[in-house]
Amino acid sequence: MSAASRLRPAFVETFPATLDQGVLYISITYRTCGHLCCCGCGEEVITPLSPAQWSVTYNGETVSLAPSIGNWALACQSHYWIRNGDIHWSRRYSAQEIAANCERDRGRLDEASADADRTSLARLRRRLNRWRR
Ligand SMILES: [Zn+2]
Repeated sequence: MSAASRLRPAFVETFPATLDQGVLYISITYRTCGHLCCCGCGEEVITPLSPAQWSVTYNGETVSLAPSIGNWALACQSHYWIRNGDIHWSRRYSAQEIAANCERDRGRLDEASADADRTSLARLRRRLNRWRR
């Protein structure tokens, strides 16, 4: 499998059994995005959507995902941004930077899970309304 330089969005309820390279699957129902690692290693990359994790922006044609995708857990350890459907490669992080990132993410997740239940439904509705407009 070769590296992807662009991702096109596919709005789905659940992900297919095998993901296609070059597609960003977006499930609003499960507040999750999934794609195959853009380096071409064929690994699935799952990015949950939440205030402490990832946000997806759809402009009617292309998608952006923030923050960047850091596949530290994969053998390839690739790191890239998805902006307006384009893949922007980032440098690889050192082991130290990766550890620091994981610490920070854990902190954000702990904070977020406390009020996730309260806000997730309202947020989901807002997001759906925004996308329908
Ligand atoms: Zn990869």
